[in-house]
Amino acid sequence: MNFYSLHREAPKVSFKEAVIRGIAPDRGLYFPEKIEPLPTSFFEGIEDLANDEIAFEAIRQFVSEDISENALRTILRDVLDFDFPVHELEHNIAVLELFHGPTMAFKDVGARFMARCLGHFSKEKSNEVNVLVATSGDTGGAVASGFLGVQGVNVVILYPRGKVSDIQERQLTTLGQNIVALEIDGTFDDCQKMVKTAFLDEELLENMRLTSANSINAARWLPQMFYFLFAYKQLKAKNKEIVFSVPSGNFGNICAGMVAQKLGMPVNHFIAATNVNDTVPQFMQTANYSPKPSMATISNAMDVGDPSNFIRIRHLYEDNFDLLKQNLSSYSFTDTETKAAMRSIYKESKYIADPHGAVGYLGLKKFREKHPDVYGIFLETAHPVKFLDVVEETLGQSLEIPPQIQKVMDKEKKSVKISTYLEVKEYLLGR
Ligand SMILES: *Cc1c(COP(=O)(O)O)cnc(C)c1O
Repeated sequence: MNFYSLHREAPKVSFKEAVIRGIAPDRGLYFPEKIEPLPTSFFEGIEDLANDEIAFEAIRQFVSEDISENALRTILRDVLDFDFPVHELEHNIAVLELFHGPTMAFKDVGARFMARCLGHFSKEKSNEVNVLVATSGDTGGAVASGFLGVQGVNVVILYPRGKVSDIQERQLTTLGQNIVALEIDGTFDDCQKMVKTAFLDEELLENMRLTSANSINAARWLPQMFYFLFAYKQLKAKNKEIVFSVPSGNFGNICAGMVAQKLGMPVNHFIAATNVNDTVPQFMQTANYSPKPSMATISNAMDVGDPSNFIRIRHLYEDNFDLLKQNLSSYSFTDTETKAAMRSIYKESKYIADPHGAVGYLGLKKFREKHPDVYGIFLETAHPVKFLDVVEETLGQSLEIPPQIQKVMDKEKKSVKISTYLEVKEYLLGR
């Protein structure tokens, strides 16, 4: 299938080229030319399918021609070798846990899929691909783990010194091999600016192939639809009207869920829950999109003032506000409300939610005030241990460190200290 740029001033490209480029030459995001619904028999029989078969049917149309069916099956088996359990916490409220992968955040799915696609594509050609990525925390670890040891792909992660958690820093600085961490003397915005400058730097581009591993990349964004289908498979027998509440920052995750709905998955409504970075909740009130600088919160992976994937959501609804409003509600919550939710979930259900999952829970509760009969699923996007300090402090409870995290705790951090873009460039050219 071909992908076009949402700015519509660049040529259409294949899936392969969309993945290698990351973003179109006119700076637009790539979008699939068609979303062909799956046959109703697929949804009728979904409970008999293994997760990797569901994923294969869902993504095949988007990658066909570029990855053979056999290669695609192998990639998916490898990417999806962990669980996506749904637990019912309260009457008609369930949690979908997305943290059973190697770095314990949902980003493992997209990062692993993208890594294997790029590995597959760079096998055919001798020239290597360089993945450049800025992280405020979880993306770096998922990308480092997903791309570790992938032949023909070098990964350079830029992270802001002193502004990611200790566990997050270890996940991206201790792996070695084809993964390098640049420790930037600055903020996340500075890291992101350096990455964007690199993508426009003619001299760099003459010397190397560069791509991005943020959710603007189609290979990171699209596979996130898989686990909405896995959740549906687990809840279908309940025969209820299903709604998903997705804690959202850049809106890639929820947008992928909406693609699953376009494929025919029976779901009634989506809820985008945010922290005080409320650009989208405001938009859903006023129909006026007005981005603002991000504010720091305890759900820091969602501290985004101008969500990059929201343009894809608007496009899915042909920029028709009323149509979008029928299918999407969006609410924002403060840190105080989030902490209170973490405490009440723990008290009522003995369940430890991380701050992001708790925002999702709040969004669902709010929606259910007016729609009490729906069956709601909120996404627990990361394991609470990744936000150890705030979770332990809020619940007055110490957490057990799971083996995936324990493994990186004793390893030595290695990073290259960088202050300016020129140093990033010299580093890339000198490798
Ligand atoms: C990245 C992230 C989010 C936000 O996901 P988007 O796709 O950017 O909306 C939410 N929770 C956690 C834990 C994350 O790491």
